[in-house]
Amino acid sequence: MDHFSYRDGVLHAEDVPLTAIAEAVGTPAYVYSRATLVRHAKVFREALAAVGPIHLAYAMKANPNIAVLRVLAHEGYGADIVSGGELDRALAAGIPASDVVFSGVGKSAAELAHALDAGIGQFNLESEEEGVELAAIAAARGQRAICALRVNPDVDALTHAKISTGKAENKFGVAYDRAGAIYAKLAALGGLEMRGLAVHIGSQITDLAPSRQAFTRMGELLEAIRSEGLTVSHMDLGGGLGVPYQPGEQLPGPADYAAMIAEVAAGWDTTMMFEPGRVITGNAGVMVTRVIRVKQGVSAPFVVIDAAMNDLARPSLYDAWHDFVALTPSGERMTAHIVGPICETSDTFAMGREIDAMEAGNLAAFRTAGAYGATMANTYNSRSLVPEVMVDGDKWAVVADRIEPSTILAAEHVPDWLE
Ligand SMILES: *Cc1c(COP(=O)(O)O)cnc(C)c1O
Repeated sequence: MDHFSYRDGVLHAEDVPLTAIAEAVGTPAYVYSRATLVRHAKVFREALAAVGPIHLAYAMKANPNIAVLRVLAHEGYGADIVSGGELDRALAAGIPASDVVFSGVGKSAAELAHALDAGIGQFNLESEEEGVELAAIAAARGQRAICALRVNPDVDALTHAKISTGKAENKFGVAYDRAGAIYAKLAALGGLEMRGLAVHIGSQITDLAPSRQAFTRMGELLEAIRSEGLTVSHMDLGGGLGVPYQPGEQLPGPADYAAMIAEVAAGWDTTMMFEPGRVITGNAGVMVTRVIRVKQGVSAPFVVIDAAMNDLARPSLYDAWHDFVALTPSGERMTAHIVGPICETSDTFAMGREIDAMEAGNLAAFRTAGAYGATMANTYNSRSLVPEVMVDGDKWAVVADRIEPSTILAAEHVPDWLE
């Protein structure tokens, strides 16, 4: 459920007409609903609380805007980070370092040291090599780094190949068959406190069977490691729960996910850690855009909009489907291709889609754009970096400025030997 709805024929975010934001801020622009963020955060927490003691670390790569993080910090969420830059953002948003979990296959020595200095809650080690390196850095500082070992369970998450992370050939985690031995070896290092196992098999998961299979395998590993006399007090089950992108799509939600986990994890007796991203922010945002013109095509007209693949990359990256709606629909419909201005054929949001009728100057929105939207934006074709707005009831504010091409240009230099 979200707080974007039509009132008097105009699409609103909570109590604010999106047309008013588009006029004031310009387009394209992302708009987030605070009430929706809070609702999703509460629904997820309440569902998962049934499985035992939990720790929630929002996977901030989904939407790292500092205002979004602040809302989630107020809801008691920590952060799952994948870089030193994300750590600094999480801390700036008021998330306690002790609630930060550091994931990622390529943490640099500088990032590991920075995270140790900040006192983060847990490192999710993705290799034996990383564990050995972190142990040395921690020992040199007289510290012990609190760690979980990320395991690759060799399970197909049945999602898009580019967001699948738990198959043996994926780069994430250590091989399942070697995990027990690596855990024991790392646990013996003075600089590490090994306390748990971690798994994350992919994103936009819409079928719970692969997760059940992965978690079941993790339970078997937990038992095997404990039988060696080692401690496993935390199980981090990652994120990945999908959200509906199509109107009326019925997917397993947090309650179904929690029920499956309660069954699989019965008897584990650990703190259960989760790293939800998309399920918290996906439906809490839209991207507003204006139609530049409608161009005649062969099979259907092209609706050319002022948003492009640099503003919302998911369709070009993952063939993703985003619902496209007029802010003030006339009731007429049309079949059209929706494209941006960028000089790439991949700058296509939809082909032959039935949509609200559009003409030049009309305002429209892509729905379910709150996750993996603005955070993936770039300035390709010397376009602006898209701004972000947050709505709260009848209030709204710009929470990320539009970065103009002139600002980017000002950071570039012609060396004097080219004069
Ligand atoms: C991306 C990621 C998540 C969040 O995935 P969602 O599909 O957005 O829930 C969680 N954990 C790790 C390690 C990730 O890389």
